[in-house]
Amino acid sequence: MLPVRNPRTGEYDYEIPVTSADDINSITADLRAAQMQWSTLGAEGRAEVLNRFADSMTTEMGPLAQALSADTGRTTFAQFEAMKSVELIRMWAERAGPILQDLAGSGQSGQVPAVHYQHRLIPYPVVAVISPWNVPLLLAMIDSLAALAAGCAVLLKPSEVTPRFVAPLQRALDAVPELAAVLHIVTGGPDTGKAMIEEVDAVCFTGSVKTGRQVSQQAAACFIPAFLELGGKDPAVILPDADVPLAARAIIRSAIGMTGQACQSLERVYCHESISETVTEELLRQLSELSLTCSEDGAGDIAPLIFERQVNIIQAQVDDALAKGATCLLGGEPVRAGGVWYPPTLLTNVNHTMLIMQEETFGPVIPVVAFSDADEAVALANDSKFGLSAAVFSTDSRAAIAVAERLQVGAISINDASLTGIVNDVEKNSFRFSGMGGSRMGPAGLIRFVRKRALLIQTDEPARVQLFSDTALSNTP
Ligand code: NAD
Repeated sequence: MLPVRNPRTGEYDYEIPVTSADDINSITADLRAAQMQWSTLGAEGRAEVLNRFADSMTTEMGPLAQALSADTGRTTFAQFEAMKSVELIRMWAERAGPILQDLAGSGQSGQVPAVHYQHRLIPYPVVAVISPWNVPLLLAMIDSLAALAAGCAVLLKPSEVTPRFVAPLQRALDAVPELAAVLHIVTGGPDTGKAMIEEVDAVCFTGSVKTGRQVSQQAAACFIPAFLELGGKDPAVILPDADVPLAARAIIRSAIGMTGQACQSLERVYCHESISETVTEELLRQLSELSLTCSEDGAGDIAPLIFERQVNIIQAQVDDALAKGATCLLGGEPVRAGGVWYPPTLLTNVNHTMLIMQEETFGPVIPVVAFSDADEAVALANDSKFGLSAAVFSTDSRAAIAVAERLQVGAISINDASLTGIVNDVEKNSFRFSGMGGSRMGPAGLIRFVRKRALLIQTDEPARVQLFSDTALSNTP
């Protein structure tokens, strides 16, 4: 059994079994057998089953939100996460059919018009979904639901750091036996994840770059596709004509709102030198109004850190910045009250030699750097191994879009931040070390789970072997 820590109390008050490689082997065999019927059910049949799952998830909404709250130390967001998951189920139930229908075309070859074709869509039989701790339910569901809607069976392993939600999720699943046959949830840590990759036909992984590299290498050796959604170091660029209070509000929501524990959290702020003081003052003013949830009644804005060891990473980056000359205007040290809270932290006088500007922090820290022109802003924003998303602020939307088009990231929010956290139906890719393997959002999020089989029908006489016979060498031109 693996002990599980409660992020609010700091106590280990829960445990989960570790699923063995042998169990993974037999579970995958069962999923593989059940998937055939699931696939032949068709998109409409699957939609009906998925909608019943949405109903049973709605029945379990209270316990789901409670378990998520114990997993993450967040209350209001836990409710939002449970609700958003139900919304996602209904979205795929509605949209999968039309998307798959559009994809499975038939027609005539342009090159060889006598050849007619029909496409069949063949889902990967079993897809592994391996998910992280920061948004436990939603990140477990986002790939699983699309894969299921496409006709795959799914073997899901949520993070061992936040597994309490699995029990109510399993209850909701048990109420829909047709789905329970093709969605199997296992618990465990890295070894369980590795065993899964050995058995399945495709893997979706959300997590750190370090683990993502191991997953992609193992998947390559198994000759299966790996869809990776990894870390980020998202920049915000504030142009001189930006609405400063609006920019500060959006940046703070993105950088601090989830205690910085979101892949698409803004972690670097570049603002034009003409407004850098105003921006810093506004950030400081708005940040000073926030409170931690460490009081008795649990009310407040900033939840505890979910993963205890994350505090060491955050503090090492802040200390490195301070040692290299940064100024800390707010925060900068954890608060321990059973769990560990990290207060909103604002740093100035930072530069790119500091870890805080290079490595993913995954904590509520805002470092601010001034730039002199758009070229410098773009160069600074692009000076990163990551390429997840970004934000640009300007009252001139053309100027904002001109900067956005030069950023080496997969999604850019304009005059807001982290919009990919709430917009799941617009395609976007992760650039650089932030991911690999097709958009998980929008129609592509579904399409990546099916392969096309082409039936090529000859309507003319087949060519004779002599078509490419050689004539005597002396006769060739
Ligand atoms: P992690 O890489 O430590 O673990 C993620 C999952 O992988 C867990 O379920 C873990 O048990 C499993 N795992 C660990 N080693 C494995 C192995 N060798 N083979 C197979 N599975 C293995 O990540 P984390 O700390 O849980 O999550 C935080 C990270 O996730 C951050 O870097 C964050 O940016 C990233 N993230 C990315 C996105 C995105 O959409 N791009 C979303 C959320 C989180």
